Amino acid sequence: MKLRKESKTNFVRIRCNKCKNEQNLYSTISTKVYCLVCNELLAEPTGGKSRIHAKALENLN
Ligand SMILES: [Zn+2]
Repeated sequence: MKLRKESKTNFVRIRCNKCKNEQNLYSTISTKVYCLVCNELLAEPTGGKSRIHAKALENLN
């Protein structure tokens, strides 16, 4: 993993580990993000950057 852009907000496309649902996620979030389908925790804020629990597919700028 070499892609590291921390200048501005961008999207990450993630796939839920549980139900394989794909959805977009902000790289910086302020609240926990849950899967829209199965309600699995996908990401949580950790002081600026989000910790992603799902599989990140690609960065969408
Ligand atoms: Zn899910």
